[in-house]
Amino acid sequence: MPDRSFLDWPFFEPRHREWAEKLDAWCAANLPVDHHDVDAACRELVAMLGRDGWLKPTTIDTANPAPLDVRVLCITRETLARHDGLADFAFAMQGLGTGAISLFGTDTQKEWLAKTRAGKAISAFALSEPRSGSDVANMDMAATKDGDLYVLDGEKTWISNGGIADLYVVFARTGEAPGAKGISAFLVPADTKGLTVAERLEVIAPHPLARLSFECVRVPSSAMIGKPGEGFKIAMSVLDVFRSTVGAAALGFARRALDESLKRVAERKLFGAPLAELQMVQGHLADMALDIDAAALLVYRAAWTKDSGAARVTREAAMAKLFATDSAQEVIDKAVQLHGGDGVRKGHIVESLYREIRALRIYEGASDVQKVVIARQVLADVSK
Ligand SMILES: Cc1cc2nc3c(=O)[nH]c(=O)nc-3n(C[C@H](O)[C@H](O)[C@H](O)COP(=O)(O)OP(=O)(O)OC[C@H]3O[C@@H](n4cnc5c(N)ncnc54)[C@H](O)[C@@H]3O)c2cc1C
Repeated sequence: MPDRSFLDWPFFEPRHREWAEKLDAWCAANLPVDHHDVDAACRELVAMLGRDGWLKPTTIDTANPAPLDVRVLCITRETLARHDGLADFAFAMQGLGTGAISLFGTDTQKEWLAKTRAGKAISAFALSEPRSGSDVANMDMAATKDGDLYVLDGEKTWISNGGIADLYVVFARTGEAPGAKGISAFLVPADTKGLTVAERLEVIAPHPLARLSFECVRVPSSAMIGKPGEGFKIAMSVLDVFRSTVGAAALGFARRALDESLKRVAERKLFGAPLAELQMVQGHLADMALDIDAAALLVYRAAWTKDSGAARVTREAAMAKLFATDSAQEVIDKAVQLHGGDGVRKGHIVESLYREIRALRIYEGASDVQKVVIARQVLADVSK
């Protein structure tokens, strides 16, 4: 039985505990799905999650508008990741892909949200480019005004759900000012003429991912999300909500690694006794449990702070993402070690966790970038 005691922490309300318990039972009954065809698996997961109501927290509800509940987003990602990394991915992208619309969209743009929450449309967040991943304010993609249209030209890469998405939130340079202040956000339906998948990208933990080409893609001015020049601010506001949830996914992977390790060391007998009786093994287990609790405290502190009305949680979210993803990598590495040869055997759960965790330390701001963000915040605090 996985440790659920963290749900008694004061960060949570009874509704969070109830959601976690129901979702856990749903996951046990429905996951994992067959991953052999990741596109089909993702479509199936989005449809299943939408059908059974689990995508509701990914967007605001236009009928009953309330801020996005970051604690629910984190609990959901943690729980899904513990059962199936691809299910977590399918859930997370419905939120990240529509975050700009939830936070800044017009009523017409928000009509998409009912479809994505129901699992009837798939969304994607298209920010990164070949020359600008970490250095995102340096993007090249242009959106040129032409009467009542904008014409988008350029490339986006590493776009999760690229190739299967129905809508893309795309960031492009509109040129109001140099750098970060000259970028705007656009809602671009996947079937818009001139938008094509230039390349499908394969990674160590497979999920739908693509490089996209935009050649003379014409969208109406009404496709702009927010105001001209606000795109960078919009992207950062979306990441401010969703960055802690990356830490929550890492936490789910780490908890699964510890659960698998606890079973393994109890069952596996070496030198006449269960592996669990060796003190060096106990040392590994203690380190793993400690890292998990520390990560959970940081993740749920960030989520609670945002839910409590903080305008920005840049420092808290950066700490949560950095610590939870880096420490999950260490927890999972220890799990692989404790499993011996089985730990690196293709198809074993800890082998897949070892592949799943790696990209989380790179996307939505690499670990090194999170350190820069934290340092800037603490330096700003002393100069106040
Ligand atoms: C699996 C996966 C899914 C992704 N999904 C999406 C998506 O859906 N949408 C999207 O827009 N993008 C997505 N990305 C892109 C992701 O956000 C970028 O890969 C990330 O921002 C890093 O950019 P880069 O790959 O260009 O690496 P670079 O920017 O070249 O950075 C390389 C490395 O340099 C170091 N570094 C960079 N900046 C600094 C700094 N300031 N200080 C110190 N060290 C630094 C870091 O170690 C970093 O990992 C995804 C990436 C992956 C791998």
